[in-house]
Amino acid sequence: MSDIANNISHIRERIAAACERSGRNPEAVRLIAVSKVKPAADIDAAFAAGQQLFGESYVQEFRDKSPQVQSTVEWHFIGGLQSNKVKYLRGKVAMIHSVDRLSLAQEISHQWQKEGTTCKILLQVNIGDEGQKSGCDQDKLEQLVRDVSALPNIQVCGLMCLPPYCSNAEEVRPYFHRMRELAGQIDQLQIPGVSMNELSMGMSGDFEVAVEEGATLVRVGTAIFGERIRKNG
Ligand SMILES: *Cc1c(COP(=O)(O)O)cnc(C)c1O
Repeated sequence: MSDIANNISHIRERIAAACERSGRNPEAVRLIAVSKVKPAADIDAAFAAGQQLFGESYVQEFRDKSPQVQSTVEWHFIGGLQSNKVKYLRGKVAMIHSVDRLSLAQEISHQWQKEGTTCKILLQVNIGDEGQKSGCDQDKLEQLVRDVSALPNIQVCGLMCLPPYCSNAEEVRPYFHRMRELAGQIDQLQIPGVSMNELSMGMSGDFEVAVEEGATLVRVGTAIFGERIRKNG
């Protein structure tokens, strides 16, 4: 088995063990292989190992790389997104995780209207109340959900977060826990067209804790593809 195939099977085992510990059904957790900065060949190798869902963070890179991928994969866009670049994702990604403002959601709806379909999105929450970080403030989330859900070509499926960096995964647990609470609170409002079925949280260093706290989508890059040498836009 290749390193990538080995890594994927090991991560799947760790996800299953975290589900076992927390009494969850392993089928309720989907692994997103975060392939940013990695070549198309790595994506094809992961696909050959049974991985179908991939996450990308940079629009330009996604535009250049996705046509080179041989396999029929499902793409999720997980990175910071400028409205003027949404058009390059139209019809190509199954879900956008990083919606944190109404203007961005309006542009997504506008672009997907041209396709005659709806775009599944998650609302990104600034769960650590960090000054510089993207994500909607917790106290503005309800209004954002209401505004975004009223758009015609958008389907709100849940929440996403990038918690504050912690060297110890246990320190992140309270943020993941809070995410689950927030999703529950939004769910209770029964806003038409809104479901809170998806919680996108957990990366290479903390996905097991995220699973224990209710993640349904974990975004793992380094632990599958190895260290990233270079970042590009
Ligand atoms: C890069 C990235 C990840 C993956 O991070 P790793 O630590 O490499 O697993 C997850 N989520 C987002 C939004 C990212 O940009």
